[in-house]
Amino acid sequence: MARVELVKVARRFGRTAAIEDISFKVPDGQFWVLVGPSGCGKSTILRAIAGLDPVSEGTVYIGDRSVNRVPARQRDVAMVFQNYALYPHMSVAENLSFGLRMRRVAEPAEIARRVDAVARSLDIAHLLERKPRQLSGGQQQRVALGRAIVRQPQVFLLDEPLSNLDAQLRDETRTELKRLHARIGITTLYVTHDQIEAMTLADSIVVLDRGRIQQIGTPQAVYDRPANRAIATFLGSPPMNLLPATYGDGRFRIGDQTLAAGTLAREIELRTGKSYDLGIRPECLSLFPPEGGEFAVLQAVADAVEPLGRETLVNATLPGTDCTLNCFIPGLWMGDRGTRLVLHLPLNRAYLFDAATSERLY
Ligand code: ATP
Repeated sequence: MARVELVKVARRFGRTAAIEDISFKVPDGQFWVLVGPSGCGKSTILRAIAGLDPVSEGTVYIGDRSVNRVPARQRDVAMVFQNYALYPHMSVAENLSFGLRMRRVAEPAEIARRVDAVARSLDIAHLLERKPRQLSGGQQQRVALGRAIVRQPQVFLLDEPLSNLDAQLRDETRTELKRLHARIGITTLYVTHDQIEAMTLADSIVVLDRGRIQQIGTPQAVYDRPANRAIATFLGSPPMNLLPATYGDGRFRIGDQTLAAGTLAREIELRTGKSYDLGIRPECLSLFPPEGGEFAVLQAVADAVEPLGRETLVNATLPGTDCTLNCFIPGLWMGDRGTRLVLHLPLNRAYLFDAATSERLY
């Protein structure tokens, strides 16, 4: 195991920077997740750590040493990509053991023991004699993961390793990965577009946009205190509602209605006539007034009603706007499309973003 640290790392292609000023430190044994829109530089960061691409600026540390001049094969990292290319002519057992045999890092008996242990933990022990073409996509993905794990590298780099799996297998493999990490504790960097993977797997999340770090924090901290509008809508399903609001006289105007700004107006300096986005998560809206604390009231009209068993997800429109919002109503809600809703918005659970800069103000 080893910590991984990047200090002011940049990677440029000609004049364009794929990543710029990237600094973070992943402590020994932690699981960090990199998220952000397509093209934001996630893969470039993994490739820089793996040594597949040189960095243009800055330093990559694995353990205590700078690896800027260390070739990829000597960095002791294992990388799994979404297109997990397995060797087609080799059996699963041979695929799993190939790296170890090549490096002659262990005796054959020791290699067999490690392959067996990893195959059992990934539930592929019954497939060891098969060729990759005789496996399902999900099984191939597990073999690719197993091939990386069996090497017992110091660092794991996983680039959307579950993206080719169907929903159920994805859930199962995600849980398996979490269990596996808890057991072997190898320092891991994991790239995903999937917010559930980010929330459930990460010790810390690094949010990137256009090659730069936007925010670093635990999943809960990023969820509770997103730095800006884009991050606020990335984590959470369905995402945070954002209501375009104009401020004046202690109230927000949203379409045809006005809402008390209450504590927001007291705690931050709101400018009359200025545009904001008022944020509220679907689970924080309620048909009933909260028991304590200030709240605002919002009129909406149900547009789509989705009973989910434990709760009902209602998508509603706000009169006088083209804005829709989602809210969860506990249990089975008997209303249907067109039903008028009076929603209570606890102000201590609200967020406020500057409409122009997208920064979170509250
Ligand atoms: P995705 O989620 O779509 O996989 P990503 O966040 O992993 O994207 P990267 O693949 O790291 O993004 O790419 C970051 C930026 O660097 C992109 O704008 C990409 O076009 C650019 N880039 C990557 N490799 C090269 C290259 N070899 N030459 C020129 N530009 C490149």
